[in-house]
Amino acid sequence: MSEQNRRFLLRERPTGRIDDTTFELDAQPAPEIGDGEALVRLEFISVDPTNRAWIGEAPTYLPPVGIGEVMRAGGIGRVVASRHPGYAEGALVQGLFGWQDYAVLSDAAPAFVMPEVPGVSPSAFLGVLGMTGLTAYIGIHDIGRPQAGETVVVSAAAGAVGSVAAQIAKIEGARVVGIAGGPEKCAMLTRDLGLDAAVDYKAPDWREQLKAATPDGIDVDFENVGGEIMDAVFARLNIRARVALCGLISGYNDLEPPPGPRAFGRILTNRVLIKGFIVLDHFDQAQEVAQILGGWMGEGRLKAQETVVEGFEQLPHALNMLFDGENVGKLVVRI
Ligand code: NDP
Repeated sequence: MSEQNRRFLLRERPTGRIDDTTFELDAQPAPEIGDGEALVRLEFISVDPTNRAWIGEAPTYLPPVGIGEVMRAGGIGRVVASRHPGYAEGALVQGLFGWQDYAVLSDAAPAFVMPEVPGVSPSAFLGVLGMTGLTAYIGIHDIGRPQAGETVVVSAAAGAVGSVAAQIAKIEGARVVGIAGGPEKCAMLTRDLGLDAAVDYKAPDWREQLKAATPDGIDVDFENVGGEIMDAVFARLNIRARVALCGLISGYNDLEPPPGPRAFGRILTNRVLIKGFIVLDHFDQAQEVAQILGGWMGEGRLKAQETVVEGFEQLPHALNMLFDGENVGKLVVRI
């Protein structure tokens, strides 16, 4: 195998945003496979806020990526050589392949074989038909459980998970308010995704916008951001509201945890349920949920949005794009 395998290795743990010193790019010959192994050439790498959490000091729901190790990330690619009966050459496979061109599969390092769906880009399996869609569905359908007419607020609503969560809440009959940064994203939420209102958290009057958009209070918070935005939402939660605590992206680049929410008393007095959840615990529902979401897409009720960055070497820059709000929908890098 004469192909090169480019890899980004973790050089040092960032103390804030990642920068030029965080990763080291190297190139090795593509790996040779032995019996019981298969070789995957990656086509798309998923860029997720959690990638940043994985390279911090503190363990999250997975151990931190070690110094000198290939950066961990989800990806999708094709089997280009196989000596494993479960992975046919040409099969589309998804797994935690990392920031590299090639990955080796085995029983100890398995991957999911994905279906070929005509007209559907493989990247959709990293987004709405994969973890993104599953996360959104669990948070709205299983945790938030909005009743028809209830008010659902989704933060980072123009992003991957948020845009799908907001649309699922609409499909389930809720009144849906999205929070996002900037007038273009807010216009997109109401115009293209059919949300009832949008709040631009970068505008000086965003707190007033949130009040005006939620005159009857908030019954479900799909929380992606944390910090001040979460606090303002908490202050408007209704009796027996539900919070699907999905992410806290506003703090992922910080060394110190943010101050606790000031509106916490409202959780008590209004008997609010807060539930943190991690999508990895819900893989058993992945196929069923992909079918539901795929069906809604086919009927034109759910729009899948995607930002595609071209080129392996853009991976570190792409990770920072999430923190600058430079993506709409699911962010992937095409290899
Ligand atoms: P997104 O596509 O939503 O990208 C992140 C978005 O967050 C950006 O586009 C930006 O949008 C917004 N953002 C970034 N920094 C801030 C900030 N300081 N304040 C407010 N908004 C900010 O990413 P994902 O959909 O992949 O992830 C969204 C959230 O869901 C994250 O918190 C992530 O960790 C979490 N998550 C949790 C999972 C779970 O299993 N619990 C699984 C997957 C994701 P804008 O332009 O609007 O600022």
